Amino acid sequence: MTLAIGRETLTSGSCWTQREVTATSGVGVTETVAVHVEGLTKSYGDVRAVSGIDFDIPRGEVFALLGPNGAGKTTTVEILEGYRKRDGGDVLVLGHDPGKGERELKKRIGIVLQSTGIDPYLTVSETIAMFSGYYPQPRPVDEVIELVGLSAKRAARVLKLSGGQQRRLDVAIALAGDPELLFLDEPTTGFDPAARRGAWEVLKNLAALGKTILLTTHYMDEAQHLADRVAIIAAGQIVAEGTPDTLAGRDVAKTRVRFHLSRPRIRSACSTASSGGRSTTESSWTDSRSLGRRWRTSISS
Ligand code: ATP
Repeated sequence: MTLAIGRETLTSGSCWTQREVTATSGVGVTETVAVHVEGLTKSYGDVRAVSGIDFDIPRGEVFALLGPNGAGKTTTVEILEGYRKRDGGDVLVLGHDPGKGERELKKRIGIVLQSTGIDPYLTVSETIAMFSGYYPQPRPVDEVIELVGLSAKRAARVLKLSGGQQRRLDVAIALAGDPELLFLDEPTTGFDPAARRGAWEVLKNLAALGKTILLTTHYMDEAQHLADRVAIIAAGQIVAEGTPDTLAGRDVAKTRVRFHLSRPRIRSACSTASSGGRSTTESSWTDSRSLGRRWRTSISS
């Protein structure tokens, strides 16, 4: 597959340059993509961590890689970030091969690792300012702090932050260079429910800015809440892919409705029904979309 960078435009109201990437495959397909993965493989000795996966992430999409421990999520993301060499397959990130370690790509992506080493004695704003210094066109420090909801903690030292606040700071660091594409590896693992909801708000803010986001997660509800599209990965293979609503046929799957009748009066009504009386209790397998329309329970005595 060959990739050509097409026209480059500065979108009004946007702080970063959007490039239209025209991917021309052997069959002449043209598409606008942030990430292209085709036949990706990676093994560690005898362990086949990634076994030939394919996916594309269009620009501006939030894409979730969902799977259990050891599924191959981190390996995949690290290859896309340029931290790990792949064994085989084609990978393009913003039109670059991340395996080449080009600076041009590094300044256009933001990475939130599973854990980040930050100087605990710097304040929140000093930390973000330090990372901003590595980029040619950083996002203003105060804007980054506001985006991740740390305004009240801007002068606090890192060591005084809660776990959830430190994770927000990790996201802030990834945002310092105003990247086009963000990688978030398990951004809420270990969070309590309130901290998770807070982190989801931060990610929603980023999505609203039009960032392309690839996140990995163990949690279906997180993928469902945040992602435009989800790929489920298990044992190094993608086993399902789609929008959260249609994933693995959820939109058309049958739903079994069970109920328990506990009051003696209702039990007696049911036995009247089964013996041919006026009362009826009826339930059926039903399509989840029409739940409540086709399923009915009617009891009278
Ligand atoms: P988790 O959700 O636990 O982070 P994951 O889906 O990110 O898991 P990976 O970390 O990519 O999965 O691991 C995939 C497989 O590769 C696992 O079997 C893991 O044990 C193995 N693996 C990962 N990193 C290495 C390594 N550096 N050396 C050897 N094996 C590794």
